[in-house]
Amino acid sequence: MFPIDLTITGVENLRAWEALLVYDPQVLEIIDYDVSLFLGKTPGSSVLNGSHPLPDTDGRQFLAFCSNDYLGLAGDARLAAAAREGAERYGVGAGASHLILGHATAHHALEAALAQFVSLPRALLFSTGYMANLGIVTALAGREDAVFADKLNHASLNDAVLLSRAAFKRYAHGDLAALEKLLAASAARRKLVVTDAVFSMDGDIAPVPALLRLCERYDAWLVLDDAHGFGVLGATGAGVLQHYGIASERIVYMATLGKAAGVFGAFVAGESDLIEMLVQRARPYIYTTAMPPLLAHALLASLEIIAAETWRRELLAQLIARLKRDVAGLRWRLLPSDTAIQPLVIGANDEAVRVSEQLARRGLLVPAIRPPTVPPGSARLRISLSAAHREQDVAQLVGALLEIEKKS
Ligand code: PMP
Repeated sequence: MFPIDLTITGVENLRAWEALLVYDPQVLEIIDYDVSLFLGKTPGSSVLNGSHPLPDTDGRQFLAFCSNDYLGLAGDARLAAAAREGAERYGVGAGASHLILGHATAHHALEAALAQFVSLPRALLFSTGYMANLGIVTALAGREDAVFADKLNHASLNDAVLLSRAAFKRYAHGDLAALEKLLAASAARRKLVVTDAVFSMDGDIAPVPALLRLCERYDAWLVLDDAHGFGVLGATGAGVLQHYGIASERIVYMATLGKAAGVFGAFVAGESDLIEMLVQRARPYIYTTAMPPLLAHALLASLEIIAAETWRRELLAQLIARLKRDVAGLRWRLLPSDTAIQPLVIGANDEAVRVSEQLARRGLLVPAIRPPTVPPGSARLRISLSAAHREQDVAQLVGALLEIEKKS
């Protein structure tokens, strides 16, 4: 029933980790202490990502609590088999953009399956979530429009607003009264409220029904980025809309396919006219090579597993509950989150880094997130859990935290 090897190693993972450190300025900000201390300088050392079936090495193994593979599907053999089948059927590359020649049967079938899965009329694939957000906001908003954004939104939503040239109105995290004031004062031609559905650094779920009521009152679109909710929230994993049991023609729903779905890519779902408008106007959709169809084929298999294997969401819920219960004795506190993202607030930057380093010495990878990524004084360990973890992994993490706290 649980044939998932969580502690998986391999030089590829090590490279991925190093590449993150080198290339991604946000991550660089987050983890700029020397992880190579634990990895590169130890011959044969490797990162255990909990999901990728890479060959074992003789060196040290690391257990990661920082992947977005929330359901443990990234290394699933059935998805690998579907990808192989897709490669045989469609080849490796799409060969062109969707609107030229790149749109294969697999893309088409996946778009239909995704729309049905999230109970919205139509869906459109994008190559990444970053591009989907750029596409949505720049297609819907321009100079005469206004975008209202939670201050903790993901960077891709913020970049999208800047690119759109719309007025950028940010409200304090979750502050609906502040949002309402901004909406009431706006004379913009078109209004968009954009929000993470599950906040990537805090793990809390946006108050979507209340946001929707405000959008109705002030005639605004509601753009939801469900990167961290899709697959995880709702009875069948359909995401934040299923979680709240809501639907509306005003909702532009975006989710990524490289997190809980275990593959790569993203999609936008909503009313047919909206999706048609994106096909015509979303430049990151139009001017880029289509996702390799073998990935779309693998994602069809992933969707079936997400819906059918409810035990993954149940196990994740158990792990979340266990972590919350077991860290209650620590002086450090978890933020109030019911999702797989469980931030443990340490406070001071240097202490957060030290705890993260000491966890790494014990073979556990949990990144220390510090200002300006999070508010000053709230440096934290961003613990992310996965159905690829086992109860004893969480016990190991908590045991290490207790030990580190005692010594500090
Ligand atoms: N939105 C959110 C909230 C995210 O966390 C991420 C990825 N970290 C993205 C969008 C971008 O998705 P992708 O990785 O598919 O570009």
